[in-house]
Amino acid sequence: MKKIIKTIANFTQTLTLLLCSTFAMAQSIPLNKLTGQFDEKKDSDFIALDSTILPVNKKGMYLQKEPTQQLIKAYNDFKKSYPDIPFIVVSATRNYTYQNGIWQRKWDALLPKLKVPQKIAEEILKLSSMPGTSRHHWGTDIDITSVSSEYFKNDKKGIILYQWLRENLPKYGFCQPFNEGRKGGYLPEEWHWSYKPIAKQYIAEYKAILETNPQTIMKNLNFTGYDKITLESLVKEYVLTVNSECY
Ligand SMILES: [Zn+2]
Repeated sequence: MKKIIKTIANFTQTLTLLLCSTFAMAQSIPLNKLTGQFDEKKDSDFIALDSTILPVNKKGMYLQKEPTQQLIKAYNDFKKSYPDIPFIVVSATRNYTYQNGIWQRKWDALLPKLKVPQKIAEEILKLSSMPGTSRHHWGTDIDITSVSSEYFKNDKKGIILYQWLRENLPKYGFCQPFNEGRKGGYLPEEWHWSYKPIAKQYIAEYKAILETNPQTIMKNLNFTGYDKITLESLVKEYVLTVNSECY
């Protein structure tokens, strides 16, 4: 009898291990999704925001379906209390190609003044990501209404909006990755919110790769200046220095 019980216990343990490892494998996120090297418009996990009730400032923005549903609930909730305060999605998924366009434009504008690649990169990085390292690649992150701290700090409507976002968005699964008080990384961004249930898997995966085999990611980054800056340490700082509530 003891032997049978032991056999059953062993079998259960093996089955549990097998199920856990299958689950862990299912959770892993393909590298091209981490670095935005895909077309969100052709991906069935994504939805066009202009096909929903969410106000947007331009057509053709996409987001993963689950964060979109949650954002719609938050938006409806907000509008019940503040029908006259703008709640508009001004940025959602930006793939590598799109982010590379932003990087290149800023690089070209700063080059005559700053000249030194490391200095140019550090200046751009105050508010914009290196292509391949943006949370906007993931389809989990959005910018709301304005990308100016001034608006959220000094405008009456901006102040109300920001207070509401901080108090209420976590109920819908969102966290604020670039909050005040971090040591390093991007400047605070009151407008940038992230859907944690999915984004925390992305950052965990990104972190694991940076800790074990960073070259896997580095070799995919080929934007202007990548070979003239301290690439790996900048990637680590800017991807990982986020609000602990977003991990
Ligand atoms: Zn953003």
